[in-house]
Amino acid sequence: MRITRLTAVVGAFALAMAAAACGGDDSGSGSASGIVGKASKDKKLVFGVKADQPGLGLQTGGTYTGFDIEIAKIIAKGLGVPESGIEYKTTVSANREPFIQQGQVDLVIATYTINDERKKVVNFGGPYYIAGQDLLVRTDSTIAGPEGLAGKKVCSVSGSTPAKRIQTDYKDASLQQFDSYSKCVQALANKTVDAVTTDDIILAGYAAQDQYAGQFKVVGKKFSDEPYGIGVKKSDSEGCNKINEILKASASDGSYKAAWDNTLGKSGTAAPTLDVTKLTNCS
Ligand code: GLU
Repeated sequence: MRITRLTAVVGAFALAMAAAACGGDDSGSGSASGIVGKASKDKKLVFGVKADQPGLGLQTGGTYTGFDIEIAKIIAKGLGVPESGIEYKTTVSANREPFIQQGQVDLVIATYTINDERKKVVNFGGPYYIAGQDLLVRTDSTIAGPEGLAGKKVCSVSGSTPAKRIQTDYKDASLQQFDSYSKCVQALANKTVDAVTTDDIILAGYAAQDQYAGQFKVVGKKFSDEPYGIGVKKSDSEGCNKINEILKASASDGSYKAAWDNTLGKSGTAAPTLDVTKLTNCS
């Protein structure tokens, strides 16, 4: 009788411990280290975004604006985080994976191409936009495509897919790398480089800036596909799936279109269609 009672007590204790372990688990549903758990617990999230890319992620004083910022607001709202709970942290191309891995940011929305190499270390929701690599040149330039870069100085950003593509596919070009595209654009204006290469949508933003009016043109021959994803921790497939769910809803409730219309769409370009059949499987 005594033994039986003791067994029952021990059994109940074991059950309680198991339940507690589940609650504090790192990988389970609503876990503290995933974005879903963090959002519901803290009502706060840190988004890694670009700060010098007009139309996409631009910091002016303490304010960030652009399409990526609007996408961040959609994701935050879908996760139950109010706008006041969003913290933006500036990232450059090369520190996006480390920032996610080290927990310096919860998510990255920063013109961030989904590819297999990056997928080894982070998880991606999306894509929410498909850009393509292109060239920005001075208005009087004769460079008409990447083949025209042979013997020329082309600027891009370290840790970016466009810089890598120049190194592997256009070896006759002389590649100059900075940590951000605005420095490349400055170099183009100063004539220390002949071209800047990155995604067409980023280049269009610089070409449209008042300070460079009439100086530059986007060549307009895209030579890659750059599907923009939303990066989270590799282990956070729950968070990734939730992001895709939120993106799906934004495509049908008009908020995706509004995000475009209020930022990049101001130049007159119609909002793209978010193809929800192409969202990642978050594996
Ligand atoms: N989408 C490309 C990339 O993720 C280029 C833009 C960027 O560097 O942010 O590398």
